[in-house]
Amino acid sequence: VDEVLAERERYPLKRRFSFTQLAAFENCPLQYKFAHVYKIPILGSFQKSFGNCIHNTFEDILELHGERGKSTQGGLFDLPQQLPIASGFRVSVDEALSIFETRWAENNNWYPDKATMEKYHSEGRESVKRTMASWQASPPDVAFLERPFEWTIGEHSIRGKVDRIDRLPNGSYGIIDYKTGAPKTEEKIETKDKEQLWIYQCAMEEMGLSVTVLKYVYVLTGDELPIDLVQGAKRDAFRERLGGRMKEILMSRFEASPSPFICRYCDFRNICEHRKL
Ligand code: SF4
Repeated sequence: VDEVLAERERYPLKRRFSFTQLAAFENCPLQYKFAHVYKIPILGSFQKSFGNCIHNTFEDILELHGERGKSTQGGLFDLPQQLPIASGFRVSVDEALSIFETRWAENNNWYPDKATMEKYHSEGRESVKRTMASWQASPPDVAFLERPFEWTIGEHSIRGKVDRIDRLPNGSYGIIDYKTGAPKTEEKIETKDKEQLWIYQCAMEEMGLSVTVLKYVYVLTGDELPIDLVQGAKRDAFRERLGGRMKEILMSRFEASPSPFICRYCDFRNICEHRKL
């Protein structure tokens, strides 16, 4: 115990967690320690670059669509007058692709070779075109983009940002999280995969929003995966579980729990003596 306490003093633990931190601890406590206690810097990856590029592109396009919906102009006595709002989606495909190119130029690092880079560049463009076709067919009513939150559970809290929250026709809200990895199907999705959206749902409900839809959108294929809401006793148990997990992190000795599947994707596999590959 003394050893643990001495180490706590050198590397104080936070009582505020992100979803990424909770997921790292679930993967392997030692992975959490490397990343969030010792804060060992990690190399970037082209998957992360691509994820940033797409997230930023979609955010910019939707922001521009929103901005154009609330344009004003000087009028009589210089009082601002609302311009008639153009119906439909207020950004063209060419504009969207040009936004993508700007974001790509800022986020095209870590690709292992030219062929992989070109493949992702072309998949990114296709994804923007496909997404634009769906937004033009049915423009989303976006309420929030990159909405920050802090959800308090007991003496700890979880902080994060929600990619997108839409206003739905019945006045409730839908939460969307973009994924740039391979799509998962309803049969393949596990409880731990749903937790991210459940955290967002609970956090938004605590902020007073009525949430009725949760979905992951896989940008490489356009697939959407609706996730069931966490409600009633299941919601209470989820809250309890997260609270317990945060307490466990604070008391943990961060012992390794290696497994080939987790270690293969671990950022610290090259320095970890417990790895199983
Ligand atoms: S390599 Fe494996 S055992 Fe080591 S920290 Fe990563 S996940 Fe844990």
